[in-house]
Amino acid sequence: MRVTLLGTGSADGWPNPWCACPSCAWARDTGNARAQTGVLLDDAMLVDLGPDVPRAAARFGVDLGRLRHLVIGHAHPDHLGPEALMWRSWSTVADRPLDVVGPRAVLDAVAAFLTRWERRAPGEAGSPLHPRLALAGSPIRLGGPGPDGGGYLVVPVAAAHGDASVGPAVLYDITAPDGARLLYACDTGPLPAATVEALAGREFDVALVEENNGDRPGFGDHLDLATFTADVGQGSARAEP
Ligand SMILES: [Zn+2]
Ligand SMILES: [Zn+2]
Repeated sequence: MRVTLLGTGSADGWPNPWCACPSCAWARDTGNARAQTGVLLDDAMLVDLGPDVPRAAARFGVDLGRLRHLVIGHAHPDHLGPEALMWRSWSTVADRPLDVVGPRAVLDAVAAFLTRWERRAPGEAGSPLHPRLALAGSPIRLGGPGPDGGGYLVVPVAAAHGDASVGPAVLYDITAPDGARLLYACDTGPLPAATVEALAGREFDVALVEENNGDRPGFGDHLDLATFTADVGQGSARAEP
């Protein structure tokens, strides 16, 4: 699995371009701007599509034309900018199939946007976009054939993040065609017990876990340094033989 981090920033990116705090000033002065979090796998699967993410790809010289699967965790606006699908529809790959995976609120937001602006929702006749509903605990098989004859196996697990109007939010346990495994855990508060249970013993090759709040009192359903450490420790303990 080839992992390309297109962004590792928070909703407002880093730096927040309005902000004069030392952290944002450092990032600005050193040219360390980071987009909203989004990760590209094998150039074939993109996990999370904040409005910054396609532009980050353009700046890094990354071609999104081979994308086959778009996977979204929840419908907060820093994880889902459905307008990117309109920009795609003006490109040379407009007619190529693209799975759009996400919980109900994500699929509804994408359908509403594209119905408004393109008069054609994903899944309708002639649309290259194929909606796939992500439900915690229900595996989704995508694409292929990979080297072993299979594509990606995507298993949504419950996040502790927001209410049903943005999800219900999920995180993703992803197995690539080459067998490599990645955990995508952005955004979430301390993991629900059912999620810890579902992830036990999975031996991920890469775990991308949010740590939104740093050493400050945070807001929303996110991790800080203490809860991040506790969650990762819990996962490591469960992975012990
Ligand atoms: Zn700042
Ligand atoms: Zn969120």
